[in-house]
Parts: sequence; structure tokens; C-alpha cells
Amino acid sequence: MTLKDKTTITFYNGLTTIGGPMIEVAYNKSHILFDLGEVYRPELALSLEDEDYDTLIKYQLIGDVPNFYDPKITGKEIDHEKFEHAAAYISHLHLDHSKALNLLAPEIPLYAGPITAHMLPALNEKGDFLLPAAGHDKTYTRPIIPAKLRQQVQVGDIEMEVWESDHDAYGATGLIVRTPDKMIAYTGDIRLHGYHPDWVHEFLQAANKADVLIVEGTGVSWPERQTEENSEEFTGPKNESELTQEIVRLQVENPKRQITFNTYPTNVERLLRIISDSPREVVLHAQRAHLLKSSFDQDYPYYYLPGEERFVDLKPELEVSYADLLGDDHKYLWQAVANYQDLQKGGLYIHSNAEPLGDFDPAYRPFVDNFAKYGVEYLALRCSGHADEEELKQIIAEVQPAILVPVHTLHPELEENPFGERILPERGQTITL
Ligand SMILES: [Zn+2]
Repeated sequence: MTLKDKTTITFYNGLTTIGGPMIEVAYNKSHILFDLGEVYRPELALSLEDEDYDTLIKYQLIGDVPNFYDPKITGKEIDHEKFEHAAAYISHLHLDHSKALNLLAPEIPLYAGPITAHMLPALNEKGDFLLPAAGHDKTYTRPIIPAKLRQQVQVGDIEMEVWESDHDAYGATGLIVRTPDKMIAYTGDIRLHGYHPDWVHEFLQAANKADVLIVEGTGVSWPERQTEENSEEFTGPKNESELTQEIVRLQVENPKRQITFNTYPTNVERLLRIISDSPREVVLHAQRAHLLKSSFDQDYPYYYLPGEERFVDLKPELEVSYADLLGDDHKYLWQAVANYQDLQKGGLYIHSNAEPLGDFDPAYRPFVDNFAKYGVEYLALRCSGHADEEELKQIIAEVQPAILVPVHTLHPELEENPFGERILPERGQTITL
């Protein structure tokens, strides 16, 4: 081993902000990059058209990462002599982890969990999800290789293993990286209160005693709010199972009342649980039914709003008429996405982490207030995609890393490592192991 053969980790973006981690692990002539998202900054009011490379760099929406981006976008060549082996990975399909994936040079393979790999092209079908690739139509999504879970992918001297995890993005994964002398684990976005805590524990077990654990820390971003949620007044669902049970309970206790709902498109698993557990027949808006059809070839009852363009892949026999839904008060639980003024007075609408997401979005308050105007009860049923403070402690304790690096949080200093060192890197900093 020469002096050169050391593992380095460079933290290009997503450190003291929620989202957009971009991290490179390098060893000799091999290197990998994860994730490829864009930091979400709605206050900049940038449209997809505004987001050229220089703008993304200027506002630190992506990292200034050398030797990975497409030279057609950056104007800078990739040094293939310095790095003979390269690959990239994205942990899940949220935009702050995936939106910039088309910026990756076409010759560099991109890996993701199988669900993430299948859903992203469907989500970008209209060209309004991902940043565009050079020389392609905006609806293009570059190839994403569905990684075989828990199996090694060799990138020169580096091995990557993709593990199922749990987050409010369907198919979320974590990563274990091995160089010839070090093991590094990256949580992606993670929680213990979702549908699959068992998967998370197995992933953390595989990462046990990692030399470095790169952990997200969304849950420690608002220390001032912590007390509020821990107080007895906070009565929302504690986990995904309780959330689904609550939606079932509302149907059972309201046998003659119109009930509608909405969820976030990428939280497919919550939607599937609502569909499977609900006593009423669940009817989706055609756009959502089409997303499930094109990503997973699954068919569900659906409806169109008046005048909407039709999807050729949806089965005609599963269509429910919009008029039937508007007139119904007992048979259907249906996904309302517009025309709320047409809902029945006295009905119930369940907003389950759908858009608008919350108070930070200026559209949220007027959206909520409208329901009162229409005489419809508005109920927000939320469940976080991120580990809270206690869960983060448990995650760190299960790995017992020699070095902890908190990222993806407003307060990285609030995550501690009782098992070793903690490093709070600056943006762009390289650490040598
Ligand atoms: Zn996420």
C-alpha cells in the first residue's frame, strides 16, 4: 500500500441544510458519488427552466463535484486517468436526493434500489420532476441500474451494497461502502417508525462497527419544536400503522358520510396500505392510478375529472364516474385532488402529507381555509419520514461507528457519537481515513 492508497470522503453538499447530500468516497483510482439531489429552496422561486448549471452551483443547490457531471453541462472534462472506475448511487426518489441525476456523465453507471430505479422514469414522464440531461428531451431519464439488494457492486477497489431501509419514499435504501481497508455506511433518509423497522435493523446490523457512519439528522433540526411534539397534546399517529388504522377507524365510525383523502405521490406504500385496509373501495385520481400502472403494472379503480386527458394504459372496467363519487356517502374512499367546492357539505377530507405539504408553503393556509368555506371537515393526518431524536440515538447505537458524520440537518452538532469520534465537515471538505 502506497501512501496514496487511502480512503477519502469528500462532503460536497447537503450538510447543514435538510436535503441534497452529495458525498464522494474515493480510493486510489476508484470513486463513487451519492446522492444526486437538489436542495429545496422554494424562497428562490426558480422554475425548472431557470435551473441551469451555474445557477445550481451559485445557490449551492448541488455540490461542485469534479469528475462526475456530464462535460456537456459543466464545460469541464472528466479526468479518466485519475479515476479509472466510477459509479453513483441514489438512496431514494425524493427530489433532494434524485433531481440532479441527469447531470451525471452518461458513461458513469448510476445505481438505486429496484423500486427507485423503476419509479423515477415514470415520475419524470412529463419532464417536470428531474433536471434535464444534455442533448435530450426534458422527459428523458438517464438509465438507472436496479441494484440487487444486499449484493456487492464492484467499482474498481470499492464495493457498494444497497440495503432496503424505511422512509416515506417507496423503496428507500441505505448504502454500505467497502474500500480495501474501511467500511462506510450511509443511511440515506431513515426512520424506525415506518412499515419496515425490521429492514432498518438488518441494515444497521450489517453496518455494525463501521469506520464511518454518515447519518441524516432531519429529526434534530428544530430543537425548539421537540418539546411541543413530546407533550401530551400531540395526538397524531406515532407511526405508519397507527395512521392507516386511524383512516380505517374514520370510515367505520362514519358509515354515512362522504370521505375523501390525498397522499404524496412517492409515498406509494402508505397508499397501498390504505387501499388494502380500507373497508370502503378506494378510488384514485387517474394520474395516480397511471403512476402505479406504469411503475408496477398494478391496476386500481380510478376516475377522471371533467375534461381530463385519458391514459391508454388504464383498464376501462375500473373507471368510476366522477358524478358517482360526488354523490356517494358510503361506498367509496376517494382521492380528491381538485374542485373541493363540489364535495358534499358535512363530508370529511383527510390530508395525509399531500401537497401543499405544510405551513412553510404559502399555498398551505389558503388551501386549509377553503375547506371551512365549503363546509367540509379538514383533517391532517401526518407521519414523518424521518427518525426523531430518540430514534437517531438508537440508529447510532446499533452501528457504534468509530466516526459519526451527521448530514442533512440544520443542527449537525446535536447528533452525538458515544462510541467514538464525531466530525462536522465543512462544505467541500475531504476527510482522509
Ligand atoms: Zn427523503
